[in-house]
Amino acid sequence: MNVLIVGAGVVGVTTAWALVRRGHQVTVVDRLEGAALETSRGNAGQRSYGYVYPWAAPDMVGKALRGLFSRYGPFKITNPWSPRTLQFLAMSARCSLSHGLYNASHAALLELAEFSRHCFVALEEPPDASFDGQHEGLMEVADNQAACTALHQKARRLESLGIEHEWLNPDAVRQQEPGMQGPGAVAGGLLMPADGTGDCHRFTRMLAQACEARGVHFQYRTSITDWYLDDGHIRGAWLQRHPPDPGGGQSAPDVKDGDSPHYLETDQVVLCAGCMSRELARPLGLSLPIYPVKGYSLTSTIDDAAKAPRSTVVDHAYKAAITRLGERVRVTGFVELAGFQRHIPQRRLQVLREAFASRFPGAADLGHAEPWTGFRPMTPDGPPILGWGQQKNLLLNTGHGTFGWTLSAGCGEIIGQLLDGETPAIDLGAFSPGRFT
Ligand SMILES: Cc1cc2nc3c(=O)[nH]c(=O)nc-3n(C[C@H](O)[C@H](O)[C@H](O)COP(=O)(O)OP(=O)(O)OC[C@H]3O[C@@H](n4cnc5c(N)ncnc54)[C@H](O)[C@@H]3O)c2cc1C
Repeated sequence: MNVLIVGAGVVGVTTAWALVRRGHQVTVVDRLEGAALETSRGNAGQRSYGYVYPWAAPDMVGKALRGLFSRYGPFKITNPWSPRTLQFLAMSARCSLSHGLYNASHAALLELAEFSRHCFVALEEPPDASFDGQHEGLMEVADNQAACTALHQKARRLESLGIEHEWLNPDAVRQQEPGMQGPGAVAGGLLMPADGTGDCHRFTRMLAQACEARGVHFQYRTSITDWYLDDGHIRGAWLQRHPPDPGGGQSAPDVKDGDSPHYLETDQVVLCAGCMSRELARPLGLSLPIYPVKGYSLTSTIDDAAKAPRSTVVDHAYKAAITRLGERVRVTGFVELAGFQRHIPQRRLQVLREAFASRFPGAADLGHAEPWTGFRPMTPDGPPILGWGQQKNLLLNTGHGTFGWTLSAGCGEIIGQLLDGETPAIDLGAFSPGRFT
């Protein structure tokens, strides 16, 4: 079957890999200069199979309000009055208050993540080293008793779902991460020993090359601008080429400056366009209330390996993730509702530097680190959108929010199963594309 995949982020490329291995003819179209240049570029690098959770937690409204008034609180709103922000906030609040939804979504996410863990094993050839990947575990560190209580609660939930985890006292936390000698308090930690890390950008580019070698056709600097619909099917799409981007490939291309649009016929479409899926789905009669939830990262080479993290730490005091990526370290944080505003304020980066210094002082000089900002394609409840769309030949694999890198391998495989008429490996109820209408 001829399949058109929209989007060459980690989700689109893992989907392309799953489909080409099943014998389909795959074309991937992306508006940017290459693979993984949007959200998949600078994320926290955690393949956090035991640490996936829905966005709309029952206590999210209170937490968000408290965070708004603190410099360190992760939750920020910088354009509260835009209709899109207000709609997203209202839908998220409704989901967070919907009885039983959080627990059901959490269980579904953990099941999907577990499936993804297995699918990743097959994907990690060529070896881990080419994308600075490893499986040394993910540790959440609590800095006070309240955070410990919350982690104990989480541990009980993991226990009931049979997910491998370990409770660590403060000494064991420091044994797990011997470089963690900073002044930040340590009250305890929860370790997911089988979780992994890796540079999502490098991985995606490596897999895109492997896809090309198997015959997948990539069209970069090309946007989908419109669809041709007939008799409940998508028959094809209008594509617009863009001129090369002098800004290095991440800025939004100017559609008007490209060649005239051309038409591409297709048997099947898979929408993997991350934060832009909402606009692309609207002419198809689908309402996808995906919001671009902004985050920031700083990446630096390591100066002193003995003082650096071995794997990845989620720090409860700053709500920051600190991840080892080979010879580099990355600090990531913030969930900010700012629309598609790409500005990187120094005050956000300063908080990330403080978070790092409180745990791993002397490991790297974050004064010269590479700053990045990206947008999590977030759904109001949190689980991604995975399954059949309105048209008979439309599949959706989008809205991956906080965990697209972790879930990508499993979701690509599930798209393959659906396309080939197989029963999907897991129940897809929590991920249904129609759940917001
Ligand atoms: C700060 C931060 C930290 C994160 N940390 C983690 C983590 O540790 N672990 C984890 O699992 N996840 C993490 N994530 C989330 C993860 O990065 C995303 O879920 C994932 O990258 C989404 O991948 P994607 O392929 O769906 O989207 P993207 O990577 O954004 O790809 C979508 C692609 O679609 C293309 N596109 C859009 N519109 C069109 C169009 N009209 N025509 C053609 N192409 C189009 C875009 O150019 C883009 O390349 C983090 C995210 C952020 C922001």
